Amino acid sequence: MNLIILTPQDCSQANIANLTGRRLQHVLEVHQAQVGQQLRVGMLNGLMGNAEVVHLDKQSLQLRFELDQAPPAKLPLTLLLALPRPKMLKRIFQTVATMGVERVVLMNSYRVEKSFWDSPFLQPDAIQEQLILGLEQGKDTVLPEIILEKRFKPFAEDRLSNLAGDSLKLVAHPMAQQSCPRDVQQAVTLAIGCEGGFIPYEVNLLAEHGFTPVGLGERILRVETAVTALIARLF
Ligand code: SAH
Repeated sequence: MNLIILTPQDCSQANIANLTGRRLQHVLEVHQAQVGQQLRVGMLNGLMGNAEVVHLDKQSLQLRFELDQAPPAKLPLTLLLALPRPKMLKRIFQTVATMGVERVVLMNSYRVEKSFWDSPFLQPDAIQEQLILGLEQGKDTVLPEIILEKRFKPFAEDRLSNLAGDSLKLVAHPMAQQSCPRDVQQAVTLAIGCEGGFIPYEVNLLAEHGFTPVGLGERILRVETAVTALIARLF
């Protein structure tokens, strides 16, 4: 936890936060903080700054904080992610928040296991929990936007063009002839398949909407590795 994320519910006064649970444990065990020590904090979806430990024991932590620094800019990236299996999804939520992805669309595709849509990890609270872990790691306060699209065709045909706008549109596909561009200086919309990959119909439909298939070489990466490798390559 490189940044302790606060919410308005934590604050008894404008600049005082009282923490228990996971954040208290972390400050006790990992920071091994003492009264008077300074810690980095940020308000969820708000500014970041410093906090002084006012009180600390095994039951509670009180911080007096001052917020004066804007969070880092997001990457101008929308990820279209065919819904991966729940365990991987959990880690991907953390990774995208840490790396500063602006928006993630979790979409259906032919090879997505239908039961994954019923996963408890897709509940709004569960999503937010993982995103906050990622923000704490990356030192950011702003939650990425998460959109669920349970049907591929209506999404691709009716909403995708608007969503992608005039961004660079790419679909990551191991069989692509073209290799993934590096250091792009514009907004990107990037589609990534699930464990089974995209079927040709889906790649074609995306291509009809301006998406160019791009690859990262002949090795097939796990979805979570592909997400990280593609983001690092693009930006
Ligand atoms: N059996 C599938 C593999 C899917 S890997 C197939 O052959 O398509 C899961 C997803 O990660 C892929 O759909 C793709 O979006 C991305 N990916 C993995 N390895 C990649 C590579 N070498 N180049 C581009 N994308 C890759």
